Amino acid sequence: MGGTPLFIKKGSGSKITDEDGNEFIDFCCSWGPLILGHAHPAVNQAIVETAANGTSFGAPTRLENELAEMILKHNRFIEKIRFVSSGTEAVMSAIRLARGYTGRDKILKFEGCYHGHVDALLVKAGSGLVTFGESTTAGIPAAFAEQTLVVPLNDPEKLDATLAQHGHDIACIIIEPIPANNGLLLQAEDFLRSLREKCTTHGILLIFDEVISGFRVGFEGAAGLYGIAPDIVTYGKIIGGGMPVGAYGASAEIMSKVSPDGPVYQAGTLSGNPVAMAAGRATLNELLQPGFYENLNLKTDSFVRKLEAYCSSMQYEVSFPRIGSIFWIAFSKNTIRSAEQIEAGSMGHFKVLHHELLNRNVYLGPSGYEVGFVSSAHSDADLDFAAQMICDAMDLVFA
Ligand code: PMP
Repeated sequence: MGGTPLFIKKGSGSKITDEDGNEFIDFCCSWGPLILGHAHPAVNQAIVETAANGTSFGAPTRLENELAEMILKHNRFIEKIRFVSSGTEAVMSAIRLARGYTGRDKILKFEGCYHGHVDALLVKAGSGLVTFGESTTAGIPAAFAEQTLVVPLNDPEKLDATLAQHGHDIACIIIEPIPANNGLLLQAEDFLRSLREKCTTHGILLIFDEVISGFRVGFEGAAGLYGIAPDIVTYGKIIGGGMPVGAYGASAEIMSKVSPDGPVYQAGTLSGNPVAMAAGRATLNELLQPGFYENLNLKTDSFVRKLEAYCSSMQYEVSFPRIGSIFWIAFSKNTIRSAEQIEAGSMGHFKVLHHELLNRNVYLGPSGYEVGFVSSAHSDADLDFAAQMICDAMDLVFA
């Protein structure tokens, strides 16, 4: 975005304060984990009380079992879950599990989907890679990248052609069922449903990377929202309530391949550590309260409708795709479902918007390819103020 990066001193509820004492309404929310806002009292209390009894043991604890039980009880798609320390680790482990389970080497991903900094998945990826204009990273041997097949989102023909040629060699297809790292590329439900069928036909495992969408669009994530059953699911962000956690889960049969039950090795010194488990449990406990998602989604909807109403009355070339409490500012009126539909030139508009909003005490994640998140801590007054500021800033973007 240019300029000097903000250095954040503290956060509380919907707001963050930088080292210069400026306060902002925050729509980045640490890139998604903070669905309850910053420093939520119940989460903080769980962290502090747990840390007082030690931060890591390298041995089983009650807390990791309680968090696992809470998740499995309310999730129809997985029977066992393993905790790791980041979304990247969850994806890396899920890919290894899929390869170990199927005995196949190739994997298939979609252009623009980001799955953390797993070597094999940093090919045509979103997030920081697309922001910095180089969607494939240096530092990965060609032999690794060769095992990764990449097809565009929302393109059944290209997918079919790739499966016809390589279907029997592919261990897994990994997708963000709600792609949210290269803009918000909402997929047609039919496309996701047919992906499930094609995986079954070819004996390929379907991995839903729900690091963003898990616990965000509903407790069961996108799988629950669409009613589509993946074979393996990866989680991160919200599941740790702002502490470093990731997780992957699947049927008991698939998970039985993970060490020490099975031959697929995976371990981590700090995995399942009690402080992170306590933060996750306190967070998920709030999400399970009746009406939590309904309220959050309604609030987001009414916020985004205000932006839409104003921008369409002014005939500005902008739209606001959204799902649940995730929204994106797309400088286009077209429905955008794949990475190549985004015009790189539109990022110039985002840069102006971002700076004008900083001047007006509203913080969006610093990239036009990233989405915004609304938390339960955002009050109606916060959202009214932010909507007004965004509309004012749009006048300057389109001046
Ligand atoms: N998968 C998805 C869909 C993500 O959005 C991210 C992070 N933005 C990751 C994986 C990686 O998670 P982490 O940054 O915790 O390693």
